[in-house]
This record gives sequence, structure tokens and C-alpha cells, in this order.
Amino acid sequence: STPAFRDVDVVVIGAGQAGLSTAYGLLRQGFEPHTGFVVLDADDGPGGAWQHRWPSLTLTTTHRVHDLPGLPFSPDDHGAPAVESVPAYFAEYERSFDLPVIRPVRVIAVRRTDDDRFRVETDAGAWTARAVVNATGTWTRPFVPRYPGQDTFRGRQLHTVEYRAAEDFRGRHVVVVGGGASATQLLGEISRVTSTTWVTRREPVWRDGVFDEDAGRAVVAQVEQAVREGRRPGSVVGLTGLLTSTPYIRDGLDRGVLQRRPMFDHITPDGVAWDPSDGREGIAIHADVILWATGFRAAVGHLAPLQLRAPGGGIRMDGTHVAGEPRIHLVGYGPSASTIGANRAGQSAARQLRRLLRPDLARSA
Ligand code: FAD
Repeated sequence: STPAFRDVDVVVIGAGQAGLSTAYGLLRQGFEPHTGFVVLDADDGPGGAWQHRWPSLTLTTTHRVHDLPGLPFSPDDHGAPAVESVPAYFAEYERSFDLPVIRPVRVIAVRRTDDDRFRVETDAGAWTARAVVNATGTWTRPFVPRYPGQDTFRGRQLHTVEYRAAEDFRGRHVVVVGGGASATQLLGEISRVTSTTWVTRREPVWRDGVFDEDAGRAVVAQVEQAVREGRRPGSVVGLTGLLTSTPYIRDGLDRGVLQRRPMFDHITPDGVAWDPSDGREGIAIHADVILWATGFRAAVGHLAPLQLRAPGGGIRMDGTHVAGEPRIHLVGYGPSASTIGANRAGQSAARQLRRLLRPDLARSA
């Protein structure tokens, strides 16, 4: 059905953890669903990126999926695929608060209008708004670095977004690239059915003991600094490092699967190769599959007409909003690109938008 209200105070783009916590915040701040704000989401169903994760990812193997504000996440089975449990929770969340999520609607471009509002153009027509909260995550922008010879490779190359099951690689040698949680986790499962090689650009960051709140704050502060300066944000989840106490990492270390090699220099038709250096001979190894666990970039291409990009390759931020533009918030970007960070940022953005746009509204308890 065609939504009746196309002119609102706030358009939220994306209905993952970041978009839903923003929507909850806007409700609490007194914005009217549908007439005051809408959430436009490109996916067919609830769940944000979680509906697309590989089936072996469970809540016991993720860092931790924090509750959305106002409704606890109490899955019966932490070992069930996150691809099912998290979307079910998001669906319940949207229903419980009757959130005005409209889908599938893909935002193509956001532009300023002549009367200084924002025009949000989508594959289902346009909306106008006084402010925009962008909460589009990173899943739709997998990042694969370029290496010489890449196009000549005769095997299969894939990014983690395309990964389904270790079984797909049985009998083939798999080179896994990347130093983060996804790389180590997938090495753990793939190495149970076939041979693997692990390569990372930098030494992996092993962390013994626990990742406590101080460590968390330090990581967030590091990313906050980057976005204040307009640099491209690193991943907060990535910067937490690899906890040697995590069961799958412990297991990978014990089985010798997590023996890292430095990054290869080029790709050959049937493998990867390191050039000679420091008096060492070059080496080449055979590979049937190269699995790029090399992360993501922020999915902000639709904001290009707003020309927000700073020389540092990122978007210069002041808290949750773009520096100098308090009507455009990026939630789930930079320091808030974690489930807990998105919760806080979404509610903070909602509070700021009420003060800015609708000081008349009464905030609910
Ligand atoms: P998403 O969940 O990606 O939601 C973005 C939404 O925006 C989607 O619904 C999408 O359809 C929509 N969208 C995108 N583009 C458009 C467009 N142009 N128009 C309209 N809609 C659009 N973080 C943690 O805190 N704990 C974890 O355990 C954890 N595990 C992770 C495991 C993996 C494998 C990965 C890749 C990441 C993990 N993260 C984890 C990081 C995690 O992705 C974020 O914390 C959080 O889930 C991201 O939420 P989000 O709302 O920003 O993005």
C-alpha cells in the first residue's frame, strides 16, 4: 500500500539495530509515527544485516548482540543460527512498538531542497524531511582489496558476505585473508573439512584476559577521534582484537589453524605468491579458494549529493551528527558501529532532533 505521509519531520534510513533504536528514541521523544517520522528499509523483512549472516553464526560465536532499548532479547537457544533468532527479535520489536517501518524501500539519493529541507529519493518515490538519520550499516558494502594478478585467478574468490558453509570447500585448499573475528571464526570451521592458509596484512592483535569496559572505552575513543577528523573510521568491533579466551579462538590456536602468514604480494592463476625479499626466496602456494574476510565500508553512497565527504576519506562528525549539520545524523557509523553503540547513538540523535525541530513535543517517561 502507498504510505499516505510523504512529508515528515524525520526520515530514518535503515531498520537494523541503529535504525530501530533511533525509531524507539523518536517515539519516546514524542514524534508521531508515520506523520512525524518513518523508517525506510531496503530489506524484504526485519533483521537488518542479521538476516543475511552465514547460517553457522550463532549468538555464542558473536561478540554480543545487545538488547534493543525497551524490550529484552531473550532467545531460547543461544546456539541457534543468529540469522533466525535476531530477525525474529527485531520483528517482535517492530510489532511491539508499532514502529513505522516501510519496506522494501531502497534510498537512492538524499538531496537538499530549495527550501532547505531534505528530499529522500527511493525506488518507491520520494519523501521530504526536515532531518535525516542515516542508519544503513556496512553489510551492503563489502570491501575487497586489490592485488596484482587477481583477475587471472582461476579458483573461486568470495567475500564473507557470500560465505554459506565450510562444506562448500571440501577437498579444496582455502586461503583466508583478514585479521578479524570473521576470519578466525571461519578458519575454525573450514579447517575441520579441508586445508587452510591464513594471511593477514598486520600481525593479529591477540588479547589475553577479558575485554572489559575500559578496553571498550579506549577503542571507542580511538574511532571517535578518527571521525572527528574526517578520517575513514576503523571498525570498533574489529579493534577489540582477538580474545584468546574465546572458545573458537582457543580451539583454533590449539589445533594450529591460526598460524598466520604475512600478506601475499600477488595472485597467480592457481594460488597466491610472496615475492623474494631480504635474501629470502619467493614462494607460491596453491589455492582453490580465496576467502576475503577483509571487512566493510560505510554504506553511504546515497548521501553523495550532500557532499559530506572529508579529505580524509570519511565524514567529519560531531557526536552523532555531521559536523556543521545538526539535521543529518549517522547512527551506527564510526564509534557507534556496534550494537551497544548504535543503541546509545540512536537515542541521543532522537533527543537532539526533538530539541532542534520540535521543542514543543512532550517527551514520554
Ligand atoms: P545493519 O544491521 O546492516 O542494518 C542496516 C539496514 O539498513 C538494513 O536493514 C538495510 O536493508 C538498510 N539499508 C542499507 N542501505 C539502504 C538504503 N540505501 N536504503 C534503505 N535501507 C538501506 N556488533 C556487535 O555489537 N556485536 C556482535 O556480536 C557483532 N557481530 C557481528 C558479526 C558479523 C559477521 C558482522 C559483519 C558484524 C557484527 N557486528 C557486531 C557489527 C554489527 O554489524 C553492528 O553492530 C550492527 O548490527 C549494525 O547495525 P546497523 O543497524 O548499523 O546495520
